[in-house]
Amino acid sequence: MQEQPVERTKKVLAQRIRQKLYERYGEPRWRQPLPPLDELISTILSQNTNDGNRDRAFEALRQRFPTWEAVRDAPLEAVIEAIRPAGLAPQKAPRIQAVLRAITEQCGELNLDFLKSLEASEALRWLRQFKGVGPKTAAIVVLFSLNKPAFPVDTHIHRVTRRLGLIPTSTSAEQAHDQLAELFEPSDYAAVHLNIIQLGREICQSRKPKCPICPLQEECAYYRREDFQ
Ligand code: SF4
Repeated sequence: MQEQPVERTKKVLAQRIRQKLYERYGEPRWRQPLPPLDELISTILSQNTNDGNRDRAFEALRQRFPTWEAVRDAPLEAVIEAIRPAGLAPQKAPRIQAVLRAITEQCGELNLDFLKSLEASEALRWLRQFKGVGPKTAAIVVLFSLNKPAFPVDTHIHRVTRRLGLIPTSTSAEQAHDQLAELFEPSDYAAVHLNIIQLGREICQSRKPKCPICPLQEECAYYRREDFQ
């Protein structure tokens, strides 16, 4: 099918944004990739908290329980206690145990290495079947652990890309996954994902974006509307 002019324009805009973010932040680095099941649990822990708290909770969980089977079968209180550094422990602990039980039921074991042999779309679909595994969590596992193309959209990416005008302001975070995946090259997904998050944390913050010091002013619909000159 022939590409519509508006899609072409958005892809050009996406490329300019990718390039300017690269010039500002360089090639970002993801921490050491984890095996798929570890990445899945780590990503559930990361919901509504920062990377440091996520990593502290993940480490505490691994130190307290020798295996994922032990986490699955532990008393709920013990898991809550271990993952307290991540925040929302009373919600996350039962979610983690439920996912571990569901995976055991489906696969007969706690190992997700078989996902490596699936297409990205199949792996995403498989992961999404579990309660508590949304599009962002599934995409993070697929992109960073399986090294396959998926574009995870967190709250920073959702906010920044709508302000930039890359996606319509009415787009939901869930819809944004496919729309942004269309605009960027798969080989750029990881770098663009991490660099937009960096911009969202440092400059394009939720309450008061620091537009006057932003490297993306020329590309930004919000900036043009607000007229900062
Ligand atoms: S110009 Fe302002 S609104 Fe646009 S991306 Fe930069 S900080 Fe965000």
